[in-house]
Amino acid sequence: MTITVSTADPRSLKALALLAGADRWQKGHTRDGRSFYAVPSQSGEVLHMADTRACTCRDYERRQQACKHVLAVRLHVARLQAQQPRRRPAWRHAPEQLAAASRHYEALMADHFGEEG
Ligand SMILES: [Zn+2]
Repeated sequence: MTITVSTADPRSLKALALLAGADRWQKGHTRDGRSFYAVPSQSGEVLHMADTRACTCRDYERRQQACKHVLAVRLHVARLQAQQPRRRPAWRHAPEQLAAASRHYEALMADHFGEEG
């Protein structure tokens, strides 16, 4: 995803201001499993529900384009993804290799602990 933030665009600057409070956003899920955030207005009196595509605010309603809330959510999601790299699947070693390594391990453990009681 490409996120364009321009210091010449007041929406970008407002999005960055909103992003500073992203750690307190409440997260919700739609019935089809998509997540969205409840983003409070700067006064805290109005809540806008926004995801990376759409928002309930009037700016979005009017323009049908990324408002400051959508921009802020995009930045927030991108930051989360950068902080939590996708987990990689575990190795799937060949059974013979695992068996040989396991025998080695068992022999090692027997040497250390095998003679007790
Ligand atoms: Zn909005």
